[in-house]
Parts: sequence; structure tokens; C-alpha cells
Amino acid sequence: MIDLRSDTVTRPTAGMRAAMASAEVGDDVYGDDPTINRLQASVAQQAGKQSGLFFPSGTQSNLAALMAHCGRGDEYIVGQQSHTYKYEGGGAAVLGSIQPQPLDHAADGSLPLASIRGAVKLVDPHFARTRLLALENTIGGKVLPAGYVLEAAALAREYGLGVHLDGARVFNAAVASKASLQDMCAPFDSVSICFSKGLGAPVGSMLVGDEALIERARRWRKVLGGGMRQAGVLAAACSYALEHHVDRLAEDHDNAAWLARALGEIGELEVLPHATNMVFVRIPDQDASALDSYLYEQGILIRSSYGGPSRLVMHLDVSRAQLETVVAAIKQFYLTRPSCVPQ
Ligand SMILES: *Cc1c(COP(=O)(O)O)cnc(C)c1O
Repeated sequence: MIDLRSDTVTRPTAGMRAAMASAEVGDDVYGDDPTINRLQASVAQQAGKQSGLFFPSGTQSNLAALMAHCGRGDEYIVGQQSHTYKYEGGGAAVLGSIQPQPLDHAADGSLPLASIRGAVKLVDPHFARTRLLALENTIGGKVLPAGYVLEAAALAREYGLGVHLDGARVFNAAVASKASLQDMCAPFDSVSICFSKGLGAPVGSMLVGDEALIERARRWRKVLGGGMRQAGVLAAACSYALEHHVDRLAEDHDNAAWLARALGEIGELEVLPHATNMVFVRIPDQDASALDSYLYEQGILIRSSYGGPSRLVMHLDVSRAQLETVVAAIKQFYLTRPSCVPQ
């Protein structure tokens, strides 16, 4: 199958599986797993932070970070479309007793500074205590403007707020901006990074921050059920991904640009401006489910969404040749089943 639903769908490569099979392991709840310890130290160092903590998922890493920043009755400022707010089951509220204060995004994915300023609550018993600003980079595939990130972090500090980055795809942002991981992470107190997206590992996320924050997060990780034992086999996959799959993210970005151009030639589709490894396309509603099933029969998986644009995601397991197949299949669909939208 050619699977464009997400960059989470990659399978571990042979080299990655070999690294996993030969990983040295120990009990990580006791801090005894050398492969995890090495990965935590090396990611923290690359990110320019004191410490790192390995998690089974980005959802748990984000939640433990929010809980390390905020206590019961505290509040975090976040975007309406942010993963920690919209796509993590409301965990901050449900499990952390942390109130989200969601804000609308600007078109570039940022949270306007004036909205952030307007959302910070006065110290008053009527209000939750605003404690944290959480940004996401990339967001919807877009890289947040570097100048904006600095300004937003400075604004948060003006009010004594912490600043967290959901950097599930921060390596895509770094590669696209030709910046280092340290540059991308510098404005933040904590950053959560996924290895299971474009980097191609089967499992794993890393939270980085200062020692005190990471110690608080370690306790919450245990509470949340994320204390793993001989998980060095997983960390080995992540180390392998860091070594072999970071620079190649540029190929995914090139493929996305190529696909956006090629789909732009199909009159029935509206291609939105693409960014990093994602292409967003509006497929007319009346075609969406027929196109999905047509492509499925050709061995192509996409997830078209009604009302909103469909997202096509580039990753390790999608080649340019496969994208050519996808474009040809979509063209064929419209040749054999003309859209009923008047052209
Ligand atoms: C995937 C993702 C996460 C974490 O997801 P998990 O599936 O729990 O690892 C967090 N934030 C963003 C932006 C993501 O895309």
C-alpha cells in the first residue's frame, strides 16, 4: 500500500530492526537502561537543555510536561487546533486538572500576541491561574516564524508564564528552516519531540527541559503509566532514526512540493499552500468517498475529510515514483468519473 494518511505509518527499516535487536537494556524505572540513558543525554544536549526523559508517546510526553508546569486549577494558553488541546482527549483537564484557554490561530499557525496578552488572567480568586503558554511547531505542517516564536516567548515571560513546545515535528521545522534543534528549542522551557512521525521509529518521544522540570515530569510519567522497563529496544530505534533519518526529511519536503504542484494541475482539486511534509487538498465533497475507495482499490490510502481539506503526508516509506502513481490514479479517477461540479 502507498499510505499517505500520516507520517506515523512507517515501518522500522532493516537497519533500525538490527539496532533494536542488539540494544543493551536494563530496567529504566531504576534508571538502569544504558540505551535510554544515552538517548536522553544526547537529545537533551542537541536541544540545548539539561535533561531528557523518554516516553512511550507524544501525548504522554506533552501531558507530563503540562503537569510539570501547572498544578490543579492552573491554566495553559493553547491554540484551538493544537494537538495538546484538540487531539489528546482533553488529558490536561481530565487527568491534570489544568484548564485550557484555547485561542484562534492566525493563518500562519501562530497565536496572535494580542490574543495571548488578552487571555492572561489577573491574579484574582475568580480566575484560574495562567501559568503556561503552549505552542506547536510545525503546526498543520507549517513552520512558525522564528521571530514570532521569540516574541511569544518573551511575552509569556513578561507575565511569568512557562513556555512549552509540542515539537512532535520539530525536526521537520529545523530541516525546513536550516536551523539546529538547539535554535528551535532555545525559546522554550520544555519541548516534546516525537520519533514516531517523520523520523520513522515505531514508538517513542522525548521531553527535554531543565533538571527540576524533568524530575517533576518523571514522577508524572510513572503516575500516567509510562514508566517502562527494558525499553532500550525502543530507544535504539530512536537513536537509529536520529542518526539516519533527520537529514532525509528534506526529501519528504521536496516530495510534498512536487505533489502539491502535480495535484494543482487537476482542475477538480483545490491545493492549499503546502508546508514541510504535508499537502492539503480540497476534494469536492461529492467525490470524496468515491475517490477514497477508488484509490484504495489501487493500493493507495488517503484520509479525505468532509468539509475540511484532506491531508496527504510524506514520509520515509513514500517515494517519488509512488507519488507519480498516486497522481496518475487521481487523474484516472476524474477521467473515468467526471466531477459533477460545473467547470
Ligand atoms: C503525533 C503528535 C503528537 C503525539 O502523538 P502520539 O501519537 O501520542 O505520539 C503530539 N503533537 C503533535 C503535533 C502530533 O502530531
